[in-house]
Amino acid sequence: MGFWGIETPEEYGGANMPPTTQAIIKLELSKSFVPFKFGGWVHNILFSCNEDQKQRYLIPAVQGEKAVCFALSEASSASDATNMQTTAKKDGNDWIINGEKIWITGGHSADFAIVFAANDKSKGAKGGITAFLVDREMGWKSELIDTMVSNHEPATLIFDNVRVPEENVIGEVGYGFKYAMQFINHNRGYVIPAYSIGAAERMLSMAVEYANTRTSFGKPLAERQAIQWMIANSATDIEAAKGFLFRSAALAEKEGSWKTGNDSNQFRTLSSMAKLYNANMVNRVVDDVMQIFGGMGVTKELPIERWYRNVRVYRIFEGSDEMLRRTIAKNLLNEKIKVGEIE
Ligand SMILES: Cc1cc2nc3c(=O)[nH]c(=O)nc-3n(C[C@H](O)[C@H](O)[C@H](O)COP(=O)(O)OP(=O)(O)OC[C@H]3O[C@@H](n4cnc5c(N)ncnc54)[C@H](O)[C@@H]3O)c2cc1C
Repeated sequence: MGFWGIETPEEYGGANMPPTTQAIIKLELSKSFVPFKFGGWVHNILFSCNEDQKQRYLIPAVQGEKAVCFALSEASSASDATNMQTTAKKDGNDWIINGEKIWITGGHSADFAIVFAANDKSKGAKGGITAFLVDREMGWKSELIDTMVSNHEPATLIFDNVRVPEENVIGEVGYGFKYAMQFINHNRGYVIPAYSIGAAERMLSMAVEYANTRTSFGKPLAERQAIQWMIANSATDIEAAKGFLFRSAALAEKEGSWKTGNDSNQFRTLSSMAKLYNANMVNRVVDDVMQIFGGMGVTKELPIERWYRNVRVYRIFEGSDEMLRRTIAKNLLNEKIKVGEIE
């Protein structure tokens, strides 16, 4: 379809599309039941690599020669990721990484991982966490995790004295956590929100068609107010979600933050709201659509049950509902933003 590297800068062979355009494409493609993989896509963290790292990791990843994964979460700390237990200790010109990452999307098939490890546990995000480029050949192992989600293939990554050369540190030692947030905020702002709307619109159109054709007690379901209200509420919910998506994408576009990571407090707050609202919206819609379809909704003949399973995780990863509310509330209560101030 020509959607190669839609968010990748042109100098690396991408289309360099701005967030609003990305959002439109993601929204439309997520109406399909087929899990669409964007060729030429890489985690935006790799744009912050130095020239040597770009040649060794960014370019091969964009060209599809190397698969990459994002390894932040751990069994004992994912919502509070800065409390990570994976350590990086300096040994001559190398770093030795020890620890275990969990839930890493694509981690079992990745050739290299962007790994976040504590170089100084006492310092947390400011001076204590470093981002590393770690090849599988350097010695990490992976195991697939079985979940109800069909399209992420999360894995556990095990690091047992994995030796990583100094030249594989991304940016400054101790200041790697900002790269994790650069990637996560972008997903919150206009990736998950777009996927949520596409899936919800597709499911709602299926429900409209079904309500018009399925009869009970001699009349189509469409004539029952109980069904009409579910359809009306879902359609209203979707339109409200579009407001969040496009405001958030427009703000990211204005700030240019999807490539630099210099997110404003406004964007952090708005992207958290967009992810919170839209992820919950699609879960409400899929539930109502399943209700309208009755028993057919839970069969494997229709895609509804699969969407039902897949969208549930939208409320958990990239910041759970609770973590997003925490961010929104903290930014307001600490007066990082004022009520009504978001563009
Ligand atoms: C399919 C899938 C793919 C994923 N892909 C990746 C990936 O590629 N890379 C990566 O690094 N991670 C990934 N994750 C991990 C994901 O980001 C975490 O699961 C998520 O951050 C939640 O962490 P947790 O599962 O440890 O839950 P916990 O942090 O243990 O939280 C459990 C529950 O308690 C709530 N909670 C926690 N703290 C508080 C609090 N202070 N106040 C109120 N409620 C609280 C949470 O909101 C949640 O509801 C993935 C997860 C899944 C399921």
